[in-house]
Amino acid sequence: MDAKRMNHYKYLLLQHKESHEDIVDDMETLSLGENDTPGASELSSYDNHPAEIASELFDVEHQLGLKRLEEHEIKEIDHALEKIKNGTYGTCENCGKEIDPKRLELLPHARYCIDCAREFDVRRTEIKEDRQKYRPSEEHLIQSSDLNDSLRGEQFNDLMEYGSSDTHQDRGGKIVQ
Ligand SMILES: [Zn+2]
Repeated sequence: MDAKRMNHYKYLLLQHKESHEDIVDDMETLSLGENDTPGASELSSYDNHPAEIASELFDVEHQLGLKRLEEHEIKEIDHALEKIKNGTYGTCENCGKEIDPKRLELLPHARYCIDCAREFDVRRTEIKEDRQKYRPSEEHLIQSSDLNDSLRGEQFNDLMEYGSSDTHQDRGGKIVQ
C-alpha cells in the first residue's frame, strides 16, 4: 500500500476513534458505569406499569451494551493504527492477502479479508460490514464524509438485536434511576 492510501486510512481511523471516544465520554459523563444497576430498584415498584419497567431496563441494557461496543471498537482502531505504524496495515491477519480497499473504506480497522472474516465468524461487526458492502445501492453512495454515520448505523443495528425500539437520539439523553 502506498503512503497516500495509508494516510487516508489513518485519517479514517483517527476520525472513527474520535467519534467513538466522544460517545464513551458522553456515557461516562452520565455516570453510567459497568457496575451500576440503575433501574434495578424499579423492579420492586409493582405500582409501575410493567411495560414501562421493562422499557427502562431495556434502556439500561442498551446503554451498557453500547458502551462495551464502543470500547471494543476503540481497541480495534488502536490495533489498526499499530499496524499502520509497523507497516502491516491492509493485509489479512490470517491469510496475508491484501484486504479489499472497499472493505477498508467501510471498516478501516478490519483485521481480516472478507473470506477469512466469513470463515472465522468471530467478528460479528465485520461480517455485518461485509453484508453492507454487498448492498449495491449503498456501495455507490458511501463517501468519506459519510463513513462515521454509516458505521454508527451499523452499531445501532447491533443494539437493535438487544430488543429495543429506542431511537438513536435516546442514547445519551435519558438516565434511568
Ligand atoms: Zn484472509
